[in-house]
Amino acid sequence: MEEPAKNDDLIHFLRQITADGIVDKQEIWDLGTLLQVNDDARTAWPGPVIWEILQQIFADKVVSDEEAEDLTVRLRQIEKECHDRSEAEKAEILPETNYTVRELELPAIDMRLEIESTLPNESPARVDLGEHTCTCSDWNAHRKSYGANSIGRLCRCMSTAFERALNGRPELYDEMGATLVNLIRLLSTYGLGGLAEAQWRLLEGEGFNHFVSWDEGDWIAVFTENDEGLFERFGFNRRESRWAFGVRPLGAGALLDFISGLESGHQPIDGQ
Ligand SMILES: [Zn+2]
Repeated sequence: MEEPAKNDDLIHFLRQITADGIVDKQEIWDLGTLLQVNDDARTAWPGPVIWEILQQIFADKVVSDEEAEDLTVRLRQIEKECHDRSEAEKAEILPETNYTVRELELPAIDMRLEIESTLPNESPARVDLGEHTCTCSDWNAHRKSYGANSIGRLCRCMSTAFERALNGRPELYDEMGATLVNLIRLLSTYGLGGLAEAQWRLLEGEGFNHFVSWDEGDWIAVFTENDEGLFERFGFNRRESRWAFGVRPLGAGALLDFISGLESGHQPIDGQ
């Protein structure tokens, strides 16, 4: 049976914002904007499935909890369907042990910035890059309990604020280090915060740098460079042992090894 045409732009966008279907209200708004301006994304699968929900959201310009939940269910179905259609994941890969694990921390920078919201009728957020605090609802609801300098404190306003600080003061680049700058640029580009996960590590190997983040949930998030030099997000489901949307990064063998270490209770950190 021939499968219906699918829209790769939309699926790529979905892969960047979620693996488990959970999207925040700003991401829902961004998704709606993408569908509004891109006719192909709206008409080819999975566009119509998502657009049906988003139309109600755009009609009253409010994302209700019910609509967000409805969307979560649909996005989970879409992820699973993409995975099941994927040919790439059927080829087996072996764990690879030649990599180094590093801790990641937010640098403290004595700057306070105001970041406008992309949601209508939302006041700007005030971000403090020294204390890693923000006035947005995401930070207050999910992030403030993380310890000082934890990446979990990085809401999307804060990643935008870091990006702006870097643009204005290039000397900060050296202070922060290239890898963290790359992570922040990636998160800022997609309007993401540093997922509110407890654990973040950097896996450095030959030809790849993986930023890995996880907590008690099933999904482990991976931010890494693809073979075109672009940073992308991937997800690995530790319970089902499979990649989100059926797509895995270069250097996936190192991740398999690292994840199997996690499952057996090891959390190696090298070269502090
Ligand atoms: Zn914020």
